[in-house]
Amino acid sequence: MGKPLIAGNWKMHGTAESARNLATQLSHHKFQENAVEMIIFPPLVHISAVSDVLANSRISLGAQNVSQYPNGAYTGEVSAEMLVDQGCKYVLVGHSERRVVFGESDQTVAEKFRAAQNAGLIPILCVGESLKQRQQDATFEVVAKQISAVIDLVGLDKVCQSVIAYEPIWAIGTGETASPEQAQDVHAAIRTQLGEAGRLTTLLYGGSVNKGNAAELFKQPDINGGLVGGASLEADEFLNIAQLVEA
Ligand code: PEP
Repeated sequence: MGKPLIAGNWKMHGTAESARNLATQLSHHKFQENAVEMIIFPPLVHISAVSDVLANSRISLGAQNVSQYPNGAYTGEVSAEMLVDQGCKYVLVGHSERRVVFGESDQTVAEKFRAAQNAGLIPILCVGESLKQRQQDATFEVVAKQISAVIDLVGLDKVCQSVIAYEPIWAIGTGETASPEQAQDVHAAIRTQLGEAGRLTTLLYGGSVNKGNAAELFKQPDINGGLVGGASLEADEFLNIAQLVEA
Protein backbone atom coordinates (compact mmCIF):
# COMPACT_ATOMS: atom_id res chain seq x y z
CA MET A 1 0.00 0.00 0.00
CA GLY A 2 1.35 3.43 -0.94
CA LYS A 3 1.97 6.14 1.60
CA PRO A 4 -1.25 8.12 2.13
CA LEU A 5 -1.19 11.69 0.84
CA ILE A 6 -3.59 14.57 0.41
CA ALA A 7 -2.53 17.29 -2.02
CA GLY A 8 -4.13 20.69 -2.58
CA ASN A 9 -3.63 22.33 -5.98
CA TRP A 10 -4.48 26.02 -5.61
CA LYS A 11 -4.03 26.61 -9.36
CA MET A 12 -3.91 30.30 -10.33
CA HIS A 13 -5.93 31.70 -7.44
CA GLY A 14 -5.33 34.24 -4.71
CA THR A 15 -3.08 37.03 -3.56
CA ALA A 16 0.03 36.72 -1.38
CA GLU A 17 -2.14 37.69 1.58
CA SER A 18 -4.86 35.12 0.89
CA ALA A 19 -2.20 32.45 0.27
CA ARG A 20 -0.56 33.24 3.61
CA ASN A 21 -3.95 33.19 5.36
CA LEU A 22 -4.96 29.84 3.92
CA ALA A 23 -1.57 28.29 4.72
CA THR A 24 -1.77 29.71 8.25
CA GLN A 25 -5.23 28.22 8.84
CA LEU A 26 -4.02 24.82 7.64
CA SER A 27 -0.84 25.01 9.67
CA HIS A 28 -2.82 25.62 12.89
CA HIS A 29 -4.57 22.28 12.48
CA LYS A 30 -3.47 19.71 15.05
CA PHE A 31 -2.60 16.69 12.94
CA GLN A 32 -2.53 13.32 14.63
CA GLU A 33 0.81 11.55 14.87
CA ASN A 34 -0.01 9.07 12.11
CA ALA A 35 -2.14 11.37 9.96
CA VAL A 36 -1.69 11.56 6.21
CA GLU A 37 0.96 13.83 4.73
CA MET A 38 -0.61 17.05 3.49
CA ILE A 39 0.97 18.92 0.57
CA ILE A 40 -0.10 22.32 -0.74
CA PHE A 41 0.68 23.67 -4.19
CA PRO A 42 0.35 27.48 -4.20
CA PRO A 43 0.90 29.61 -7.31
CA LEU A 44 4.63 29.95 -7.94
CA VAL A 45 4.76 33.63 -7.05
CA HIS A 46 3.41 32.85 -3.55
CA ILE A 47 5.75 29.91 -2.85
CA SER A 48 8.18 31.93 -0.78
CA ALA A 49 5.45 33.50 1.38
CA VAL A 50 3.81 30.12 1.98
CA SER A 51 7.17 28.47 2.63
CA ASP A 52 7.73 30.91 5.52
CA VAL A 53 4.32 30.12 7.00
CA LEU A 54 4.88 26.36 6.77
CA ALA A 55 8.40 26.46 8.22
CA ASN A 56 7.53 24.78 11.52
CA SER A 57 4.46 22.87 10.42
CA ARG A 58 4.15 19.29 9.20
CA ILE A 59 2.58 20.38 5.92
CA SER A 60 4.74 19.90 2.83
CA LEU A 61 5.15 22.41 0.02
CA GLY A 62 4.95 21.73 -3.69
CA ALA A 63 5.03 23.64 -6.97
CA GLN A 64 2.50 23.33 -9.78
CA ASN A 65 5.08 23.30 -12.58
CA VAL A 66 8.81 23.08 -13.24
CA SER A 67 11.15 23.62 -16.17
CA GLN A 68 12.67 20.60 -17.87
CA TYR A 69 15.94 22.57 -18.08
CA PRO A 70 18.43 22.96 -15.20
CA ASN A 71 19.29 26.65 -15.80
CA GLY A 72 20.09 29.14 -18.53
CA ALA A 73 18.33 31.33 -21.09
CA TYR A 74 14.75 30.12 -20.56
CA THR A 75 12.82 33.31 -19.90
CA GLY A 76 9.87 32.84 -17.57
CA GLU A 77 10.84 29.36 -16.44
CA VAL A 78 11.69 28.10 -12.95
CA SER A 79 14.10 25.23 -12.39
CA ALA A 80 13.74 22.28 -10.05
CA GLU A 81 16.75 23.46 -8.05
CA MET A 82 15.10 26.85 -7.49
CA LEU A 83 12.03 25.08 -6.13
CA VAL A 84 14.15 23.03 -3.74
CA ASP A 85 15.84 26.26 -2.67
CA GLN A 86 12.39 27.67 -1.78
CA GLY A 87 11.53 24.68 0.40
CA CYS A 88 9.55 22.59 -2.06
CA LYS A 89 9.49 18.82 -1.63
CA TYR A 90 7.02 17.95 -4.41
CA VAL A 91 6.11 19.19 -7.89
CA LEU A 92 3.16 18.44 -10.17
CA VAL A 93 4.14 17.29 -13.64
CA GLY A 94 1.77 16.64 -16.52
CA HIS A 95 -1.33 18.19 -14.97
CA SER A 96 -4.00 18.06 -17.67
CA GLU A 97 -4.20 21.87 -17.72
CA ARG A 98 -0.49 21.91 -18.65
CA ARG A 99 -1.00 19.20 -21.25
CA VAL A 100 -4.19 20.62 -22.80
CA VAL A 101 -3.89 24.40 -22.38
CA PHE A 102 -0.11 24.71 -22.72
CA GLY A 103 0.47 21.84 -25.14
CA GLU A 104 2.90 19.84 -23.02
CA SER A 105 3.63 16.54 -24.76
CA ASP A 106 4.30 13.19 -23.08
CA GLN A 107 7.98 13.78 -23.89
CA THR A 108 8.07 17.21 -22.22
CA VAL A 109 6.27 15.81 -19.18
CA ALA A 110 8.85 13.01 -18.99
CA GLU A 111 11.71 15.53 -19.19
CA LYS A 112 10.14 17.63 -16.41
CA PHE A 113 9.76 14.49 -14.32
CA ARG A 114 13.46 13.68 -14.81
CA ALA A 115 14.57 17.26 -14.00
CA ALA A 116 12.49 17.21 -10.81
CA GLN A 117 13.89 13.91 -9.58
CA ASN A 118 17.46 14.88 -10.46
CA ALA A 119 17.11 17.91 -8.18
CA GLY A 120 15.67 15.85 -5.32
CA LEU A 121 11.99 16.75 -5.75
CA ILE A 122 9.26 14.12 -5.69
CA PRO A 123 7.22 14.45 -8.87
CA ILE A 124 3.48 13.85 -8.80
CA LEU A 125 2.85 12.58 -12.31
CA CYS A 126 -0.68 13.43 -13.42
CA VAL A 127 -2.35 11.22 -16.01
CA GLY A 128 -5.89 10.88 -17.31
CA GLU A 129 -8.16 10.63 -20.29
CA SER A 130 -10.52 13.11 -21.95
CA LEU A 131 -14.27 12.48 -22.10
CA LYS A 132 -13.97 11.55 -25.77
CA GLN A 133 -11.23 9.03 -25.01
CA ARG A 134 -13.35 7.47 -22.26
CA GLN A 135 -16.34 7.26 -24.60
CA GLN A 136 -14.08 5.54 -27.13
CA ASP A 137 -12.98 3.01 -24.48
CA ALA A 138 -9.42 4.31 -24.75
CA THR A 139 -8.95 5.18 -21.05
CA PHE A 140 -6.57 2.36 -20.12
CA GLU A 141 -4.51 2.77 -23.28
CA VAL A 142 -4.18 6.57 -22.84
CA VAL A 143 -3.14 6.33 -19.20
CA ALA A 144 -0.68 3.49 -19.86
CA LYS A 145 0.92 5.49 -22.71
CA GLN A 146 1.32 8.59 -20.54
CA ILE A 147 3.08 6.52 -17.88
CA SER A 148 5.17 4.58 -20.42
CA ALA A 149 6.59 7.82 -21.83
CA VAL A 150 8.10 8.56 -18.42
CA ILE A 151 9.26 4.97 -17.85
CA ASP A 152 11.00 5.07 -21.25
CA LEU A 153 13.01 8.13 -20.22
CA VAL A 154 13.85 7.45 -16.56
CA GLY A 155 13.18 3.75 -16.02
CA LEU A 156 10.52 1.87 -14.08
CA ASP A 157 12.19 2.11 -10.68
CA LYS A 158 12.31 5.91 -10.79
CA VAL A 159 8.65 6.10 -11.74
CA CYS A 160 7.79 3.79 -8.86
CA GLN A 161 9.58 6.18 -6.47
CA SER A 162 7.26 9.03 -7.50
CA VAL A 163 3.56 9.62 -6.92
CA ILE A 164 1.03 9.08 -9.71
CA ALA A 165 -2.28 10.94 -9.76
CA TYR A 166 -5.07 9.60 -11.94
CA GLU A 167 -7.14 12.61 -12.91
CA PRO A 168 -9.77 12.05 -15.61
CA ILE A 169 -9.91 15.35 -17.50
CA TRP A 170 -13.71 15.26 -17.63
CA ALA A 171 -13.79 15.27 -13.82
CA ILE A 172 -11.42 18.17 -13.20
CA GLY A 173 -13.19 21.31 -12.05
CA THR A 174 -16.48 20.06 -13.50
CA GLY A 175 -18.21 18.80 -10.37
CA GLU A 176 -18.40 15.40 -12.06
CA THR A 177 -16.43 12.71 -10.27
CA ALA A 178 -15.34 9.29 -11.46
CA SER A 179 -17.32 6.67 -9.56
CA PRO A 180 -15.26 4.81 -6.96
CA GLU A 181 -15.37 1.74 -9.25
CA GLN A 182 -14.22 3.69 -12.33
CA ALA A 183 -11.38 5.24 -10.36
CA GLN A 184 -10.35 1.94 -8.74
CA ASP A 185 -10.30 0.17 -12.13
CA VAL A 186 -7.80 2.68 -13.52
CA HIS A 187 -5.72 2.68 -10.33
CA ALA A 188 -5.57 -1.12 -10.43
CA ALA A 189 -4.43 -0.99 -14.06
CA ILE A 190 -1.69 1.51 -13.12
CA ARG A 191 -0.61 -0.76 -10.25
CA THR A 192 -0.44 -3.68 -12.69
CA GLN A 193 1.59 -1.64 -15.18
CA LEU A 194 4.13 -0.78 -12.46
CA GLY A 195 4.39 -4.44 -11.42
CA GLU A 196 6.14 -5.60 -8.25
CA ALA A 197 8.23 -2.41 -8.05
CA GLY A 198 5.03 -0.35 -7.78
CA ARG A 199 3.46 -2.24 -4.91
CA LEU A 200 4.25 0.65 -2.54
CA THR A 201 3.89 3.53 -5.01
CA THR A 202 1.42 6.17 -3.87
CA LEU A 203 -1.50 6.51 -6.28
CA LEU A 204 -3.85 9.47 -5.91
CA TYR A 205 -7.26 10.20 -7.40
CA GLY A 206 -8.11 13.72 -8.54
CA GLY A 207 -11.20 15.22 -10.15
CA SER A 208 -13.86 17.17 -8.22
CA VAL A 209 -13.08 15.49 -4.90
CA ASN A 210 -15.07 17.02 -2.04
CA LYS A 211 -15.98 16.03 1.48
CA GLY A 212 -19.13 14.31 0.22
CA ASN A 213 -17.50 11.92 -2.24
CA ALA A 214 -13.98 11.52 -0.80
CA ALA A 215 -14.67 8.72 1.70
CA GLU A 216 -15.87 6.20 -0.90
CA LEU A 217 -13.04 7.06 -3.29
CA PHE A 218 -10.35 6.79 -0.62
CA LYS A 219 -11.71 3.42 0.54
CA GLN A 220 -10.71 1.80 -2.75
CA PRO A 221 -7.79 -0.60 -2.37
CA ASP A 222 -5.48 1.07 -4.91
CA ILE A 223 -6.31 4.70 -4.05
CA ASN A 224 -3.89 6.10 -1.46
CA GLY A 225 -5.24 9.64 -1.26
CA GLY A 226 -6.31 12.61 -3.34
CA LEU A 227 -5.21 15.54 -5.45
CA VAL A 228 -7.77 18.23 -4.78
CA GLY A 229 -8.25 21.47 -6.71
CA GLY A 230 -11.27 23.67 -5.97
CA ALA A 231 -12.05 22.13 -2.59
CA SER A 232 -8.50 22.80 -1.34
CA LEU A 233 -9.07 26.57 -1.44
CA GLU A 234 -11.15 26.48 1.71
CA ALA A 235 -9.30 25.32 4.84
CA ASP A 236 -12.17 23.53 6.62
CA GLU A 237 -13.27 21.66 3.51
CA PHE A 238 -9.72 20.59 2.70
CA LEU A 239 -9.05 19.47 6.29
CA ASN A 240 -12.31 17.51 6.27
CA ILE A 241 -11.22 15.73 3.09
CA ALA A 242 -7.76 15.08 4.54
CA GLN A 243 -9.31 13.33 7.52
CA LEU A 244 -11.02 10.89 5.16
CA VAL A 245 -7.72 9.54 3.82
CA GLU A 246 -6.95 6.39 5.73
CA ALA A 247 -3.48 6.62 7.20
C1 PEP B 1 -6.84 19.45 -9.98
O1 PEP B 1 -6.64 20.63 -10.25
O2 PEP B 1 -5.89 18.65 -10.01
C2 PEP B 1 -8.19 19.02 -9.62
C3 PEP B 1 -8.40 17.76 -9.37
O3 PEP B 1 -9.15 20.01 -9.55
P1 PEP B 1 -10.65 19.84 -8.96
O4 PEP B 1 -10.55 19.13 -7.64
O5 PEP B 1 -11.14 21.24 -8.83
O6 PEP B 1 -11.42 19.03 -9.95
